[in-house]
Amino acid sequence: MPQGISDRIRAVMRPSAAALEPYDPAFSQVRINLSANENTYGMPPEVKAAVDRGLCDAVTNRYPQPLSNELRSELARWHGVGEDHVIVGNGGDELLFNLFLAFGGRDHVLVSCEPTFSVYRLYAELVETTVVDVPRNPDTFECDADALAEAASRASIVVVTSPNNPTGNLFPIEQTRRLCEACPGIVLLDEAYMEFAPDGSSAEPLLAEYDNLAVLHTLSKAFCLAGGRIGYVLASPSVVNALAAVRQPYSVNVFSQAAGLAAVKNRKTFGPTIASIASERDRLLDELATMEDLGVTVWPSAANFLLVRMPDAHVVRNRLRDEFSILVRDFSSAPGLRDCLRITVGMPDENDALLDALRQLLKGE
Ligand code: PMP
Repeated sequence: MPQGISDRIRAVMRPSAAALEPYDPAFSQVRINLSANENTYGMPPEVKAAVDRGLCDAVTNRYPQPLSNELRSELARWHGVGEDHVIVGNGGDELLFNLFLAFGGRDHVLVSCEPTFSVYRLYAELVETTVVDVPRNPDTFECDADALAEAASRASIVVVTSPNNPTGNLFPIEQTRRLCEACPGIVLLDEAYMEFAPDGSSAEPLLAEYDNLAVLHTLSKAFCLAGGRIGYVLASPSVVNALAAVRQPYSVNVFSQAAGLAAVKNRKTFGPTIASIASERDRLLDELATMEDLGVTVWPSAANFLLVRMPDAHVVRNRLRDEFSILVRDFSSAPGLRDCLRITVGMPDENDALLDALRQLLKGE
């Protein structure tokens, strides 16, 4: 329930909003922040210079382009689709919200596979959409393909995250195909972390075949623009127009559009840091796997984070923050994620600091 709202004001709120458990990223100021799956390397300097030029040239006395035309064209060129297959939003979060405004609501059904990104359920509940959870396997976190296809046959919206947050595993393309065929509604593949996954993992090739498939991307992760708030959906013109119909007129401001355009034009420059993050992820996975005798379990990941289970995870997370100034994300009390923490892959020295701190805490030194 949202806090700090008097009974009098709560009484006049929309009931679904008054009952909401608001999204809380639990930020705090620390030396090493490995909690929000950002790209901790920061922008390559040449991209930063291009972004700065774009910000300086941004025209502010006029409203921004409602559909972010230049950025949209650049994204369309990149992904090899027409412009009418792309919609840009104020972060992926806005586009997810718009998905629920356009396709959710009373008598509509969301199918998703928990544990996953909590925002889907939040938005669904806010607009009074029925949520059908098809739980993941508790050990591998894989989706149950048969149960999912069955549930999808009655869904207005199916959302599957690939790689999944916070478990890191991919969703097989053939299962996406099955969902698109089974579902009378929209199938959204949330690929916020796809840049960190092996080539060929994206569901994008299926866009040419299914007009009910939508693929969500963001510039917040691999492309260092979490603060810039740019996400986009690739889909059929019908789905794009449905999302456009419910959007706020000028949600993507001129600065975000300019920064996004500079980042996308220079996307190849991010290649080396994305590759470093993927190799640091694999190193971190190997190192954490050696801590099995300390009670640590770690799952393989195709994203820029790892899910790790350990004894007294909640206490460990607080001690990492308070004694080492390292912040990781606590999922220890989330359903299906008992004693789990999610650790964003940082730069090599950040990862070393995390590993040292964890060893100390788990050995009780
Ligand atoms: N999808 C997933 C799975 C995410 O983890 C996030 C960010 N936490 C988003 C979408 C939204 O990202 P943004 O709004 O920053 O584009």
